[in-house]
Amino acid sequence: MPAPVDAAVARSLAGAVPRSFWLDQPAAPEPLPALAGDVTADLAVIGGGFTGLWTALLARERYPELEVVLVEAKTVGWAASGRNGGFCSASLTHGIGNGLERFPGEMPLLEKLGEQNLREIGETVARYGIDCDFQPTGELAFATADWQLDGLDEEAVAARRLGHDVEVLDAPAARAELGSPLWAGGLKYTTGNALVEPGRLAWGLRRAGLDAGVRIYENTQATSLSAAPGGAGMRVRTPYGSVRAAKVVLAAGVPGGSLLRRIGAYVVPVWDYVLMTEPLSATQLDSLGWRDRRGASDLGNQFHYFRLTRDNRVLWGGYDAVYYNGGRIREEHAVRPATFMKLAAQFFAAFPQLEGVSFTHAWGGVIDTCSRFCAFFGTAHAGRVAYAAGYTGLGVGASRFAAQVLLDKTQGEDSERGRLTLVNSKPLPFPPEPLRSGVIQATRASIARADRNQGRRDRWLRTLDRLGLGYDS
Ligand SMILES: Cc1cc2nc3c(=O)[nH]c(=O)nc-3n(C[C@H](O)[C@H](O)[C@H](O)COP(=O)(O)OP(=O)(O)OC[C@H]3O[C@@H](n4cnc5c(N)ncnc54)[C@H](O)[C@@H]3O)c2cc1C
Repeated sequence: MPAPVDAAVARSLAGAVPRSFWLDQPAAPEPLPALAGDVTADLAVIGGGFTGLWTALLARERYPELEVVLVEAKTVGWAASGRNGGFCSASLTHGIGNGLERFPGEMPLLEKLGEQNLREIGETVARYGIDCDFQPTGELAFATADWQLDGLDEEAVAARRLGHDVEVLDAPAARAELGSPLWAGGLKYTTGNALVEPGRLAWGLRRAGLDAGVRIYENTQATSLSAAPGGAGMRVRTPYGSVRAAKVVLAAGVPGGSLLRRIGAYVVPVWDYVLMTEPLSATQLDSLGWRDRRGASDLGNQFHYFRLTRDNRVLWGGYDAVYYNGGRIREEHAVRPATFMKLAAQFFAAFPQLEGVSFTHAWGGVIDTCSRFCAFFGTAHAGRVAYAAGYTGLGVGASRFAAQVLLDKTQGEDSERGRLTLVNSKPLPFPPEPLRSGVIQATRASIARADRNQGRRDRWLRTLDRLGLGYDS
């Protein structure tokens, strides 16, 4: 029997529109015309999320002589890039712990390159005057159960060694950062993370790209990718035309697998869900005592992330990380009332002082999840195509680093980053369907059980740990 509906929680969601708050803005630009006819370029970029937008803009900055065309199936920033939490992390490895496990010898360099990347994102935003509320706040991580306190000291020591400014918080100190009865302690980083408004960042990069001479076509889906007749370069077909280009960057996330099958072995579409409250009153904001407006998350295996917006709303997302069996991406999955109810109930448990607050937006988006949790790279068609995918929920900042790698690869540049194991290795692939669905659903169930069971990992999770395989959002 389904659980009875909590009327107060349901009421808080009654007015929520099923759209990303970040894209539901008067500043949204008019769509650019679709590609009609055949065009040529030196570089064609497929996909207008952060990976594609950064690639196109950096291509014009690094190689002003290149003609660059970008095709986007819908509108720029429409997918994950306009639906995320807006945590712009310096980490290229989905966090320090994951990085130390998988690339221990490279972490000092990876962290240095990640910090440089984050700094340069801030500089780019300032240089082009992109109004996206870029705030280098650092971040907070809160333990909600005693088992989550284990390892915080070790993480702080490792992070300090890598140059971070981090403090371990006991329960009162954690609650002094942000008032919640749930916090048992936590970590406070003042480095390594900025908050942005992702929709406006995407639109700003689109504007900067256009001003720099990138030709952008929206509502233009690449329907095939093949060697151009005569062997010179590649041809990208679109519904009403084509792009012939010497080089192609495929920056399409999980759907990139339909143009280049090998990508599909490594990424699965995991749906992640987000709520946005109405703007808080001054009294409600005071009741939170949200010191320094730092972005935050909690430390369960199934975790929430939360932050303030410039007009004092609270974004609250995460936790469920849903894989729909078969892995087909359907836009109807962007609305999931059961998850919205769960998230809302968890929000009021974390912040009971906000009882009566309503949510104005509730949405979902696809995370390109791979088994090592951080982006992988590759080339195809004798080096004429380069691709990146697999950010696993931490691509807002890392996508710019990926763009630099993709340009190195397509333009034949030797670089420090191009020699990284992170860049030259792949995650373990997921098994094909229907085994894939079975493995993922078993893993999700085990992760939820671990959270209910003081973090104890069952035999299944321990086996996956030993194999270096993971599932996350
Ligand atoms: C709910 C949610 C919360 C998240 N929170 C965070 C966060 O706080 N911090 C963080 O770092 N990351 C977060 N992420 C992840 C982050 O949003 C992504 O890693 C990042 O946006 C990936 O950018 P991308 O350009 O690679 O992919 P996308 O943004 O998915 O862009 C790919 C684009 O390619 C286009 N495309 C696909 N196929 C074709 C085709 N055939 N032809 C033309 N165009 C095509 C799509 O329409 C899309 O616009 C979150 C993601 C979600 C869904």
